[in-house]
Amino acid sequence: MTNAIRLKPGRDSALLRRHPWIFSGAIAKIIGQPTAGETILIESAKGDALALAAYSPQSQITARVWSFDIATSIDTAFFLQRVQQAQALRVQLLSPQITAYRVVNAESDGLPGIVVDRYADCLVLQCLTQGAQYQRDHLLSALIDVFSPLGIKTIYERSDVEIRRKEGLELTKGLLWGVEPSETIQIQEGPVQFLIDVKNGHKTGFYLDQRDNRAIVAAYSKHKTVLNCFAYTGGFGIAALQNDAAHVTHLESSAHMTDVITQQANINQLDLSRMQCVTGDAFQVLRQYRSENKTFDVIVLDPPKFAESNAQLKGACRGYKDINWVAMQLLNPGGTLFTFSCSGLMPQDLFEKIVADAALDAKRQARVVKRLFAGMDHPFATAFPEGSYLKGMMVHVD
Ligand code: SAH
Repeated sequence: MTNAIRLKPGRDSALLRRHPWIFSGAIAKIIGQPTAGETILIESAKGDALALAAYSPQSQITARVWSFDIATSIDTAFFLQRVQQAQALRVQLLSPQITAYRVVNAESDGLPGIVVDRYADCLVLQCLTQGAQYQRDHLLSALIDVFSPLGIKTIYERSDVEIRRKEGLELTKGLLWGVEPSETIQIQEGPVQFLIDVKNGHKTGFYLDQRDNRAIVAAYSKHKTVLNCFAYTGGFGIAALQNDAAHVTHLESSAHMTDVITQQANINQLDLSRMQCVTGDAFQVLRQYRSENKTFDVIVLDPPKFAESNAQLKGACRGYKDINWVAMQLLNPGGTLFTFSCSGLMPQDLFEKIVADAALDAKRQARVVKRLFAGMDHPFATAFPEGSYLKGMMVHVD
């Protein structure tokens, strides 16, 4: 007998629209005794076979769909085909001047729980779910097949992500294949070089999703003064300086990033006298700048996720409002605010309303000249709007 999940009556509509998640509340019964991560059949209340999915008993999302074609075998050939498809899309979309990009964007590339990022000759894999963990060897062999002819020398795992605990998985990281990655890997993003620490950096090492937005910030920062808040490794500010910004202030709470940002400036042969790294809490430092009447032409606000759960959304709104309000007061007339939220729980319309309220309270006339999203290597499947988490705006402030 095949292990299966039988859905409650009427609870198959999301699946029929090809949304890949089966929530625990939709399940009538579990047939057989599937183990965590195993591939199981999803059946409608009437017993029609709907999909093949990975079982995750501890999660609220009890199963994630690998395929809606129930004749498919979920094996190395399956992962090979999905990885090839994902890579082919990136080759089509990205210029050869980009040597770091997201190869596999989980659900949106038909591979729930699986993230693969490429940094030059190194791939970094994240397995976020029981299903991804269970299939890791198949996936690894598919990655080796596709990428060793493309010069990949390392496959490193960064499954040290808190979200794994919800799945009942331990956090883990380490070398999976090939040679140990060097301490920093140099990547190219158009005209800019970055050094990436894939072993210890945030996410898989870098905020690849902001690539296009770094280029936009750079394009509008020429000969301008720039305040890069929540700087991390300096991405936005380094790109701005590379495009001849007059001066960049990087503001970051983590003190050891100063060295990292300085290294990024050095490999791009930037003029260090036009750059300053400030260690501090953005909420306080922006207020301090306000009291000193300090102003900037361009301000970037790219804070960490303020809302990890719906319960935190209200507090998150206050945080976004506050930081955007103070930032607007620091902008020179005709200045530009680049403001982002990477909280998936923050709806775009709400974020836009918060920024509108901030402008009102700052008594500034603000016009959104461009909405900003993650780059094309972070697609979201139309059936899976949850895949679109990064939202931002380029705001002209008079
Ligand atoms: N803009 C970055 C990514 C930002 S990640 C990029 O493009 O690469 C968020 C960063 O904000 C982290 O480096 C974190 O250390 C920093 N941070 C978190 N809270 C902060 C605060 N209150 N003030 C300043 N920096 C903060």
